[in-house]
Amino acid sequence: MNPFKRSLVWIRRDLRTHDHRAWSVAEQESEETAVVFVFDSNILKKISNNEDRRLTFIYESLVEIDSQLRAKGSQLIVLHGDPTQEIPQLAQRLNIDAVFTNRDYEPYAKKRDAHVEETLKKAAKKFFSLKDQVIFEADEVKNLSGDYFKVFTPYSKTWRAKVTKQNVEEARVRLKNLIPAKNLQEFSQKLELESVGFKETKNWIKGGCKNAHKLAQDFLKSVKNYKDERDFPALTQGTSHLSTHLRFGTINVRELFRETWGLQNAGALTWQNELIWREFYQMLLSAYPSLPENCFQEKCNSIKWPGTQKDFKAWCEGQTGYPIVDAAMRHFNKTGWMHNRLRMIVASFLTKDLLCSWKWGEKYFANHLLDFDLASNNGGWQWAASVGCDAQPYFRIFNPVLQSERFDPEGVFLKAELPELKKLSLKYLHAPWTATPLELSAYGIELGKTYPHPIVIHAEQKDKAIKLFKS
Ligand SMILES: Cc1cc2nc3c(=O)[nH]c(=O)nc-3n(C[C@H](O)[C@H](O)[C@H](O)COP(=O)(O)OP(=O)(O)OC[C@H]3O[C@@H](n4cnc5c(N)ncnc54)[C@H](O)[C@@H]3O)c2cc1C
Repeated sequence: MNPFKRSLVWIRRDLRTHDHRAWSVAEQESEETAVVFVFDSNILKKISNNEDRRLTFIYESLVEIDSQLRAKGSQLIVLHGDPTQEIPQLAQRLNIDAVFTNRDYEPYAKKRDAHVEETLKKAAKKFFSLKDQVIFEADEVKNLSGDYFKVFTPYSKTWRAKVTKQNVEEARVRLKNLIPAKNLQEFSQKLELESVGFKETKNWIKGGCKNAHKLAQDFLKSVKNYKDERDFPALTQGTSHLSTHLRFGTINVRELFRETWGLQNAGALTWQNELIWREFYQMLLSAYPSLPENCFQEKCNSIKWPGTQKDFKAWCEGQTGYPIVDAAMRHFNKTGWMHNRLRMIVASFLTKDLLCSWKWGEKYFANHLLDFDLASNNGGWQWAASVGCDAQPYFRIFNPVLQSERFDPEGVFLKAELPELKKLSLKYLHAPWTATPLELSAYGIELGKTYPHPIVIHAEQKDKAIKLFKS
């Protein structure tokens, strides 16, 4: 006999109907289940752009889940409000015995879930949170002294030594014993974006598991090339583009490890390593919840970043006069996505060339990235700014011109994003200021008019950055 008569599966960043731990366990432990998603007003009220692309991605994913549930005679319950009130109230009204959810390691989510658990407990209802978003949680991969790792390579070695096929097994969902739609509809709001204050956007990446699987299958066919191709932004198949799906859980990391299990080629191993980076940053945020406010290296909290708002604005708008930075930022503003190599280049440029605080860049990314994930974004920014755990040493500073020449050697990415430089010969494309005004005019370019002068001189800024860190 099942221990619970009625259970609720509360989905958040796990928007799928398969391979889902909370759902799988809820089904096994309950006679009946219903599934709920709450548009969290505490999160939404902080988003000022009513055309935020992420909302469309979430919406598309929820529509897919709802239609799968309807095909089984049930439906998704959609709510809008503060989950600490909405979930306990729904549990009360639906006569739910237990709420099942997958764990979230962000500081806000931890507090929210503790609050929900407490309220449910007072009403004699159970709350279960399960591991699903990662293969190993923070406390499961520690060093020999029992401490958290602070450097990626030993972390990943220990992670790999520990993982077994059991860790990545599917958490099967059978979509059975669902509460019929007719008993749920009065509790659900309409599934539409307008009622939560947002408009649908046209995204280059579509939500939903079907799209996630198609992307994954296409990418996995050429995963063996990943190590050689992953650093070139012009190669559209060079990386998986799965980050948004991983962020919202339309695909699960266990599945990606199952798909690449046992592959020994350098491409697959390198790609798996990136998935382990994701877990490394989740581990750090979980273990050190003050990271969003503080540098991992405490001494770096006292750095007085001298960068100006004017330079920051030029960076945001892709008007720095450094083609690789401008192309990356303009592409980002257009699509909400940026290639990893470009994220590293623009983050280094903002902090080490413009000497602006990494927090400015982190916030700009957080507001615009489709795949924004607090742990990875914070980790990536702290790494690039040399203030984090396992950070890039401060004296190793990306040269934006050399990076551009190396990772976009034919200028394909630059030309696609910077039409004003399209005709410029490859000799000058990565650093237009090295051409004379006469040479530039032959290509219809006038610096300061058709394309900006470089706003800083890299060699000078590099010295300033090193002095800033030393002091
Ligand atoms: C400054 C900065 C900010 C970043 N912000 C985010 C963010 O908000 N959200 C996010 O998902 N990633 C972030 N990253 C990591 C990385 O850039 C993206 O995960 C990657 O570009 C996504 O593309 P992909 O899915 O094609 O990755 P692939 O190369 O195909 O990698 C597969 C998956 O591994 C994970 N991954 C890859 N690289 C990293 C990494 N360096 N750190 C953590 N996880 C990684 C992602 O989930 C990714 O989807 C950031 C990196 C930097 C340098």
